Amino acid sequence: MVDQKLHKQFHQILGPKGILVAPQDLSHFSQDASRIHSPPSVVLQPQTTSQVAKIIELAHEHRLPISIRGGGTGLDGDAVAPRDGLLVSLKKMNRIKEISPENTVAVVQPGVMTARINDQLRSSDLFYPIDPASQGQGTIGGDVATGAHGLRTAKYGSIYNYLLGLEVVTPPGEVIRCGAKTLKCATGYHLTDLFAGSRGQFGVITEIVLKLLPRPQARASLMATFHEAAQAHRVREVLMRENIWPSRLELLDSSAVERGLSDLKLDLWPNQVLLLAELDGSKSLLKDDVEMAVKILAQEGGGRIQPAEDERQAELWWRLRGSLLSALVGETDMALLLTFILPGSKTALFFEKLSSICGTDPITHYIYGHLAEGRWHAVLLAKGGESARTRDLTRLARNIHKTAGSLGGRILRPHAIGFDPGKSLQPSRDGGQERLWSALKSRFDPRGILNPHE
Ligand SMILES: Cc1cc2nc3c(=O)[nH]c(=O)nc-3n(C[C@H](O)[C@H](O)[C@H](O)COP(=O)(O)OP(=O)(O)OC[C@H]3O[C@@H](n4cnc5c(N)ncnc54)[C@H](O)[C@@H]3O)c2cc1C
Repeated sequence: MVDQKLHKQFHQILGPKGILVAPQDLSHFSQDASRIHSPPSVVLQPQTTSQVAKIIELAHEHRLPISIRGGGTGLDGDAVAPRDGLLVSLKKMNRIKEISPENTVAVVQPGVMTARINDQLRSSDLFYPIDPASQGQGTIGGDVATGAHGLRTAKYGSIYNYLLGLEVVTPPGEVIRCGAKTLKCATGYHLTDLFAGSRGQFGVITEIVLKLLPRPQARASLMATFHEAAQAHRVREVLMRENIWPSRLELLDSSAVERGLSDLKLDLWPNQVLLLAELDGSKSLLKDDVEMAVKILAQEGGGRIQPAEDERQAELWWRLRGSLLSALVGETDMALLLTFILPGSKTALFFEKLSSICGTDPITHYIYGHLAEGRWHAVLLAKGGESARTRDLTRLARNIHKTAGSLGGRILRPHAIGFDPGKSLQPSRDGGQERLWSALKSRFDPRGILNPHE
């Protein structure tokens, strides 16, 4: 708990506007997208790195557990305070400090909303390709801390490919700079990659240097429906053979389309799937690529093949795709989001097996994902009382995990929304990795004050 004396010290660091204690303010920060509820006793809102360093120094000295929060769209329950604890919100560290077209880099504070980066770049010829569906609410600091993926990963790579440097505050309040403001910096260990994806366990990210790319001259979007998933899976292979690399290639089952993209009024049959594609490149080549893609879609059995009429229509499609998870979960109070990576050659079979496993269960399920990179999501919603629902969801998830594993797939951390499945669904970690992870944690945060949820 924060006593009067500590409160006064935080007040001295942050000033009156930097500390929130009113119940309505605390309630605003009481949960993240996992819906785990844990109101903080105090919210601290630093604006500078030196304020963050002083907060960490005090927390370390007094062994105060703290959680770090960006936009609160995380699905792990890590962006909420430990019981009666402190929450450090980085939303006020929201400056885009530098955009350098000649060096193709941007320097940003962690609380910048991700979508703002491309808004800011609109008048230039540059863009930042990582586009997680949460980009309208989440922050770039949260994206780095969770190693967030976007829809363009297969063509443009992951956030790790765009992280050139970081400034991080680690206990007991030390400011570390790693990487550089240059496109290449290969001296020593690549510490930026260690902090990225560490979910705030090793330090507070206070500045980020991002690599930017030249913006493609033109983009075009297409959609097509297929009677079965296997046909859509072949499209990817044929496109690649023709040297067409879509910047986004998404596949959605009919129930996901019905619930999340109902505005498009597509009325798919139960086993049909929807393929959404985006191609980008130079103006002259793109026209040929779109023509070839339409030909391939038709040849592989696509029905209702439709290029977007204009940018507005394409934007609508991608906006609906971006809000798919929120639309699927909606007001349901218990949901489970599973994510798998599968070898491309096994995805059609996986879809088939998944439909038959889920088909016999009383659980509503939706399947969608990134066809080009073989990363898939299953959203499961259960009916009934709380314990029955937890039991049904956990059982089905285990079955799906087993099926994915038997096909050579890898299961990523499941996200429970509105309930706690305990440890039963965690993918087992290799013992060596586990030891290394905890050795690093105790080296960076010896008193275990940062994000002490696990
Ligand atoms: C509708 C929806 C769609 C989503 N789509 C995607 C998607 O397409 N791809 C994807 O990868 N994820 C997705 N997510 C998950 C989540 O939004 C992302 O992981 C996002 O990057 C989190 O950003 P945030 O600012 O909201 O972080 P928060 O939720 O505030 O925090 C997430 C984690 O990062 C830590 N953290 C935040 N800021 C910092 C910092 N400055 N320093 C150190 N640690 C920090 C927090 O402690 C916490 O552990 C989605 C979530 C929702 C609800």
